[in-house]
Amino acid sequence: MTDRVRNAACRCGQIRVACVGEPIRVSVCHCRECKARSGSAFAAQVRFPAEQVRIDGGAEAKMWQYTGDSGNIADFFFCGTCGSGVWYRARPYHDAYAIPLGNFEPGHSFVPDYSVYEGRQEPWVSITGEAIEHYD
Ligand SMILES: [Zn+2]
Ligand SMILES: [Zn+2]
Repeated sequence: MTDRVRNAACRCGQIRVACVGEPIRVSVCHCRECKARSGSAFAAQVRFPAEQVRIDGGAEAKMWQYTGDSGNIADFFFCGTCGSGVWYRARPYHDAYAIPLGNFEPGHSFVPDYSVYEGRQEPWVSITGEAIEHYD
């Protein structure tokens, strides 16, 4: 594992997230929930083990808890000032912090490993790359 540190932040900069080393997984998701969360056609997120994540300004984060149809609970944290999502925890990766890829500073070099819920993918979206696993 490297000691590389990648920094993410909400738009107003009040909440900063530093991630050490390499992530568990980088994924894009086309589900309805992720579309609504990100406000975009799909969402991209980077998951790190909790012990590799340092949060500065986290007291300003608000939480919204969501229980999916499956009964799985997810905790979503967002900046109370600017509204950016800053991290969430969801099963089956509840011990990990999922951080929106777009919150990271340029040069992060994250590339998705997985593209999931492609059955709900917008018809004009195409996720490409040789190492990407695709799931409906
Ligand atoms: Zn903010
Ligand atoms: Zn999703």
